[in-house]
Amino acid sequence: MEFISTRNPSLKATFREAVFKGLAPDGGLYHPLETPDLGDLFLSFQHSHTFPQIAEQILLQLFPSEIPPAVAHQIAQRAFTFTPILRNISDHNGSLKILELFHGPSCAFKDFGACFLAAIMEEFLNDESSHAIILTATSGDTGSAVARAFYRRKHIDVVILYPSGRVSPLQEKQLTTVGGNVSALEVKGSFDDCQRMVKEAFVDPELNEKLRLTSANSINIGRLIPQAFYYIWAYAQLAPEEKKKLIFCVPSGNFGNLTAGVLAWQWGLPVKKFIAATNINKVVPEYLETGIYKPRASLQTLSNAMDVGNPSNFERLSRIFQDDYQQMREMLEGIWITDKDTLSTIRKYYTRQKLFLDPHTALGVCASERFMQSIPAFEDCIVTLGTAHPGKFLEVVEEATGKQPPLPKQLQEALELPKQAIPVDPTLNALKHFLLERFG
Ligand SMILES: *Cc1c(COP(=O)(O)O)cnc(C)c1O
Repeated sequence: MEFISTRNPSLKATFREAVFKGLAPDGGLYHPLETPDLGDLFLSFQHSHTFPQIAEQILLQLFPSEIPPAVAHQIAQRAFTFTPILRNISDHNGSLKILELFHGPSCAFKDFGACFLAAIMEEFLNDESSHAIILTATSGDTGSAVARAFYRRKHIDVVILYPSGRVSPLQEKQLTTVGGNVSALEVKGSFDDCQRMVKEAFVDPELNEKLRLTSANSINIGRLIPQAFYYIWAYAQLAPEEKKKLIFCVPSGNFGNLTAGVLAWQWGLPVKKFIAATNINKVVPEYLETGIYKPRASLQTLSNAMDVGNPSNFERLSRIFQDDYQQMREMLEGIWITDKDTLSTIRKYYTRQKLFLDPHTALGVCASERFMQSIPAFEDCIVTLGTAHPGKFLEVVEEATGKQPPLPKQLQEALELPKQAIPVDPTLNALKHFLLERFG
């Protein structure tokens, strides 16, 4: 499979190149050039297939020349040591379900993309007898998926920059307790400082001459493709009746998760519709309603991992639908949800069935209910993606329910370990000094 930039189809890259570059040289995102037809393969998967088995089969079809069969097996086994859970949440004929994607090392769906990217980079670097340094800035949440995913991967070191005093205590523990090949730099500055330092490092001639720096951004195609796998896995779990009328509801910010689902559909997964659920950062629902795409500054909400005013994956979505608004509208339904409705959804499911939902998942469930209520004699099956463990968003869940959800074991363990962070000034020089001292 070849990849091209969303902004210029003549800028081509192999999978390996696209994975290490992250962004195309023209600032576009890498996207598959071809559209493979994998419908028969998807339909052949059974309830009894494990997640790594499904991932391996898809990898073999997508990358016949890039990933040899034995390697595909290893990568799938190494990357996916955790599995999704499909949970029924409605009483009448199981029409509402949650696809829980938060049982991985950092308790959020981003583990699927990050762990796959780590496994594939490890494999490629091993093959080249090379070494790379992942350099990434985080405002709190996304860094932990990367830190945990790359922990103990050979040929790779990870350096994470985070703003001192501006991430939650739990997030700081998640970032700073990994150890091994993962270093946490506590920057005496803001998240913007962290991002600027990383950007400057990537274009610094001395660093680039001495070290191989790479990013593990969420826009990396190596993180997007594995996210298609859980849509296909979920399909295999359903009853035959449900398979005929499947709708996915995706709580969205940067729209990587939704784009991955739409890719799975484009490759042959029978899906009736996708619900693009957002908070008041509703650029995409608005576009679907009006045909006008108006990105803007983001607003803060309770579902803060979705506070995105200019979603980067919109370029990929547009490409899949060949920039055809009508075609996109047929497949995507946009629904946006207020914080108030997010809170009342968390409360409702806790009261009704003692089920804790994190704010992002609750927002998705609320959008699914709204969609269901808008259709007379509704009889489809809506699977909402559960994007984070409720224990990750304790304060919001407690505000809604008056109760604290149990912390998952991964987070409990992180809280008990000592913080190991290296304080640095918010300058390129400070970052350079650290990198050259440690890895030069
Ligand atoms: C990143 C994230 C989202 C948004 O996913 P996108 O792929 O950016 O649309 C939703 N929920 C949680 C918990 C997240 O961490």
